[in-house]
Amino acid sequence: LGGINLNLKTNRLLQKRWVQVLLYILLIGLIGSIYEKAAGWFVIASDVGLAAYYFFISKKFKKRRLISKIAVGFMLFMMFMVGIGLSNPLTPEQRLAANQQNNEKLVAQKVSEQAKTEGNKVEENKAAEENQNKTEEEAAPETQESKPTEPVVDNSNIIVNGQLKVHFIDVGQADSILVQQGNSNMLIDAGNNGDAQAIKSYLDRQGVKVLDVVVGTHAHEDHIGSMDYIINSFQVGKVYFPKQTATTKTFQDFATSVKSRGLQLTTPTVGSKFSIGDAAAEILAPNGSGYEDANDYSVVIKLTYGNTSFLLTGDAEAVSESQMLSKGLNLSATVLKVGHHGSRSSTGQSFLNKVNPKYAVISVGKGNSYGHPTQDVMDRLKAKNIPVYRTDENGTIVATSNGSSVTFSTSPGSYSGIKSSTSSSSGSSSSNTSVGNITTANPVPAPVVTASGSGEKQYVDASGKGLIKGNASSKIYHMPGGAYYDRTKAEVWFKTEAEAQAAGYRRSSR
Ligand SMILES: [Zn+2]
Repeated sequence: LGGINLNLKTNRLLQKRWVQVLLYILLIGLIGSIYEKAAGWFVIASDVGLAAYYFFISKKFKKRRLISKIAVGFMLFMMFMVGIGLSNPLTPEQRLAANQQNNEKLVAQKVSEQAKTEGNKVEENKAAEENQNKTEEEAAPETQESKPTEPVVDNSNIIVNGQLKVHFIDVGQADSILVQQGNSNMLIDAGNNGDAQAIKSYLDRQGVKVLDVVVGTHAHEDHIGSMDYIINSFQVGKVYFPKQTATTKTFQDFATSVKSRGLQLTTPTVGSKFSIGDAAAEILAPNGSGYEDANDYSVVIKLTYGNTSFLLTGDAEAVSESQMLSKGLNLSATVLKVGHHGSRSSTGQSFLNKVNPKYAVISVGKGNSYGHPTQDVMDRLKAKNIPVYRTDENGTIVATSNGSSVTFSTSPGSYSGIKSSTSSSSGSSSSNTSVGNITTANPVPAPVVTASGSGEKQYVDASGKGLIKGNASSKIYHMPGGAYYDRTKAEVWFKTEAEAQAAGYRRSSR
């Protein structure tokens, strides 16, 4: 009996309009709360429920005067907008990504504009600006301010007033390049593990708060060494990294930092474009997979600003260079970041001819054990009268483009490189360095091979440091030019094989 009584009471209660509305609100709120922004969903649900109650259910409300109906309607509308704001499902990172996608659209638009007639240009530009404003409002509905339109300088290309700065940060035998345009920043590579503080404080000094784009060109420590620290220290938009994995701790640290910041690795696809402020970036490599040499996975980016451009090649070697050439990509650039620290296996003659740079930059460590930069590459640059800026001689190099020309923060360095062993008869690798000839794609430290008194071959660099790499955990040593030489983290260096064997190491089979 008690149960039936309760049941009747419940039925009677359920027939009441306000209970129905309340249940409706609870139900929608519950569904909404399954998603992230429960509060926003709840407000919207309540709002819709109340609106339904006032305008379709309540008989009392129908008798009210028009003015009070309008007042209630307005309040409900405001409440709805608050709900939308609260339920905005975009996190700051996603908002950044949304802006970036919009920028990509802008770049595409600008490119198409170039093909059109002069008369249309300004109008379309305005439309593009408006389009950008719209998207920004969608992402942040509370913001009423629209972005001030920047003045358009009408050259043969469309560029916007300002400067593009490309900082080749001196991180010794490693790469780290900061690109700045407008309010946008991109970091390509982050030096070795020990460079974390130096890179961070350099970025701080440049006023960097957000890295819109971060690029790890490939998995080697001298490129992603401090990337984990940087990703943890700055707000990061998008992370580009080739489809390449490594078992090193450095790579794992990098991957962990990306994951822990809720980011994802974006695999670069050749031909895809994005923008850094008003500079357009295009990905030119890698054009394949399954490379024997990890360096050929390097992400290659061409950065265009007005009539100037930068070709940033990471450690791409002959194989990647020949693929870019055979694909017929537009490689020409004002500034070439010389591949693989000036290694002989990069910057082949036909590649260099195609890029035809006005200036070259080499990121390389003073007295490094790899024999970088090689005299071969320096000679190729010298023959074309290309001024070379190099971090080992010039420290950090800042290249500034105003859209029509590029200026440098220092004067050029010398053409002196490390003479490779191939000039002597002892060279094991071919001296034919023409690009397109894939057989020359050895990882190339250029050892100075000399015969010691005992007749044993000595592998030393110009400073007398041993070049045979020993892996302390596997107790295997790798000869210069060996297949695993570059990807082995050097823990012990030997001058001769006898020295390595005496220390209990055995020679790598490859
Ligand atoms: Zn490197």
